Amino acid sequence: MFSQNTETPVRSKRLTDLPSGTQGIILHVLGQGAFRKRISEMGFVKGQRVRVIKNAPMKDPVEYEIMGYKVSLRRSESEMIEVVSPSAAHNLVFGKFEGMIDEHRLKITGIQKGKTISVALVGNPNCGKTTLFNYASGSTERVGNYAGVTIDAKEARFKQGLYTFMISDLPGTYSITEYSPEELFVRNHIIEKRPDIVVNVVDASNLERNLYLTTQLIDMNIKVVIALNMYDELEQKSDKFDYRHLGEMIGIPIVPTVASKGKGLKELFNRIIEVYEERDPIVRHVHINYGAEIEQSIHAIQQELRKDEQRNRHYSTRYISIKLLEEDKLTQRLLLYQPNYNLIKQTADREKKRLEQMMGDLSETLIADAKYGFIAGALRQTYRPGNQVRRDQSREIDKVLTHKIWGFPVFIFFIWLTFQSTFTLGSYPMDWMEAGISWLGNLVGTLMTSGPLKDLIVDGVIGGVGGVIVFLPNILILFFFISLMEDSGYMARAAFIMDKLMHKMGLHGKSFIPLIMGFGCNVPAVMATRTLDNRNDRLLTMLIIPFMSCSARLPVYVLLISAFFVQYQGALLFLMYLIGILLAVALGMFFKKTLFAKKEVPFVMELPPYRMPTLRNTTIHMWHKGSQYLKKMGTVILFASILIWAMGYYPRKAEFTQDYDALITQVEADQTLSETQKTEQSEHLMLLQEEERQEQSYIGKIGRFIEPVITPLGFDWKIGMSIITGMAAKEIVVSSMGVLYQASMNADENSQSLKEKLQEQTYTAGPKVGQKVFSPLVAFGLMVFVLIYFPCVAVVAAIRKEASWKWAAFTSVYTTAIAWIAAFAVYQIGSLFV
Ligand code: GDP
Ligand code: MG
Repeated sequence: MFSQNTETPVRSKRLTDLPSGTQGIILHVLGQGAFRKRISEMGFVKGQRVRVIKNAPMKDPVEYEIMGYKVSLRRSESEMIEVVSPSAAHNLVFGKFEGMIDEHRLKITGIQKGKTISVALVGNPNCGKTTLFNYASGSTERVGNYAGVTIDAKEARFKQGLYTFMISDLPGTYSITEYSPEELFVRNHIIEKRPDIVVNVVDASNLERNLYLTTQLIDMNIKVVIALNMYDELEQKSDKFDYRHLGEMIGIPIVPTVASKGKGLKELFNRIIEVYEERDPIVRHVHINYGAEIEQSIHAIQQELRKDEQRNRHYSTRYISIKLLEEDKLTQRLLLYQPNYNLIKQTADREKKRLEQMMGDLSETLIADAKYGFIAGALRQTYRPGNQVRRDQSREIDKVLTHKIWGFPVFIFFIWLTFQSTFTLGSYPMDWMEAGISWLGNLVGTLMTSGPLKDLIVDGVIGGVGGVIVFLPNILILFFFISLMEDSGYMARAAFIMDKLMHKMGLHGKSFIPLIMGFGCNVPAVMATRTLDNRNDRLLTMLIIPFMSCSARLPVYVLLISAFFVQYQGALLFLMYLIGILLAVALGMFFKKTLFAKKEVPFVMELPPYRMPTLRNTTIHMWHKGSQYLKKMGTVILFASILIWAMGYYPRKAEFTQDYDALITQVEADQTLSETQKTEQSEHLMLLQEEERQEQSYIGKIGRFIEPVITPLGFDWKIGMSIITGMAAKEIVVSSMGVLYQASMNADENSQSLKEKLQEQTYTAGPKVGQKVFSPLVAFGLMVFVLIYFPCVAVVAAIRKEASWKWAAFTSVYTTAIAWIAAFAVYQIGSLFV
């Protein structure tokens, strides 16, 4: 290994980055044909030394000295020249050779200096890009067996051999046009970020459709390596595919990979290095033959484009010509400022018309057809399908799982099973953790001397954070099941089953995925609405996502259900999720009729083949979520717990209605009472005292202030406070309760879990004095309220980012209003019966 090299890695720069007076050694000249030729004729070739003479940042052109004479280049041109600093080349090269740098030496220099190669992963949705990305870089991004999981570019670095790779995982696209936000995203990434190598991940079990994107990459004339992923499935079907031959035909190296097992990735990245170093014998630029007529049109437009010297060098003329024939808006806009734009446009329009008249179809369609023709031809020579076992298997399974009648009960059964397991399996580790936390609380309680610091640690930190952390096992189990459903391909079926229902709400089946993701966390769910094509669909989906009960709400349910509904745990949890779903449906329909009354467009939904989920992926999911949860615990929840504790702890001085201290002394001195009676009575007095003090604390004052609003819901002021604090994150409802209800019990009895404390909580004043605060009815109302009200700060921020302030504000208000109405109905109607 050469990575012991202690020098800081030198990254190549662009010539434009060099300040005036400095020098650089040319490493690479990017760009296309005529430009490249002209620039090398001027002396800009590998290994040459350039000096920047005048380089004012805004001034164009810039003056350079090369081979002893002066040349001026436009910034757009010098942007295309990659250089390294002379010192980087010096040390190694000049020491051995006298004043000569040949190409080979220069490469070595780059290598030993820890050169970074930027790689972008491009491919259809669900072809395994993220899996490859994770495996190669050791990251843990989300993967899922359905389209639209990755919505942003994710970047990671890792070393292989002598190079550092910077790989970006991009959203999946079927083509690179401008129809969807993802396509635009990928296109901009390729053109603006100019990755050194684009890795086209191709699903080997679906070659024809996947290679369509490849043909577009070929048009773009960039450096591509194909990762022939899911090669295991191709072999399993015993298909015969001579990928080497295909690679030679299209001038792109093809490396078979099995990303989910990490197979072939070393080879892939070695191949990338070869292509980067321009050593790969296969690489060459091919043109897809679009047939005589289209080729003639392309040629005509190219002629027109070439007349302009200032042309944007980032694109090949062929690519632009094809894009113009496809009437690509982005390309048209790109050319808008060219002096001869009108002529170019006229030529393009004329050619388009000519083609369409002659061949009787839209030129866009003609080009797509030609591309598929190219693929079909290439595959006919290299590919022979074997038996179709797996596809048939998937079809057999689908006969049941997506059956128009059986599909639903099966779906509901899976969801129910998930929640049931979340509880039954989760209760064991939860008990252990609860025991551990109260042990810790007691230990700290006995070790520390009394005072605010002890109270802070025992009640604020251990009580607050500990109250929430015990739900980690439940959350991990829930995510385990969700990721099982995702990875196996069942989630896509669920979307399919739900499609009809979604249509009734005026949504696509596609909206179902963000909605389901909402069960995990509403924030990525809101972001995932980007996969929807139409703005109205996006907004509508965003508005109802908050009803998808996220994992942060789970601790609230688990706490209340295990305290008040011991017999029907799984069923009740299921009911909570169901209420959320039904509300989402109802409001979706309502909004569709009122806010977004507009026609919908048909779409195709994909059913990926069923895949055996790998333990690796599933554990990555769990770890991912679990660590996020723990992170939240250490930051937001810890902070909120301490804040709430402090607001309840101070001010320490309070005005009491009776002199408790005197009363307690009186009890202690009373000879008529037995010892146990004494402790009982004095404890009761202490409790009342603490209660009164707390009511006069800052938090008590706020609680009292909002009490009139929540009394009709059957909530006391402590519940009210917990709800308010839960706006930061819903788990905080639990930690707040942990803090608030903790103090009112005997301070030495920390062994009681929060659950038991809630069960025993009684009103100490007011009209309901002596009554229990929580009944099953109140608990249920509270669960309903927590499910529905204000999503959480992060979700509102996400909606603001994806839509606007207006929609974020609207979501906050309307959800809280519905929550109040629902909890009111639960309590008032319920009270009539109970
Ligand atoms: P992306 O949409 O392209 O990012 O695809 P993902 O990385 O999310 O993967 C989609 C699914 O394909 C997941 O269920 C992966 O486990 C699975 N997968 C990925 N690579 C392979 C492979 O080489 N072989 C098999 N059999 N499955 C794979
Ligand atoms: Mg992905």
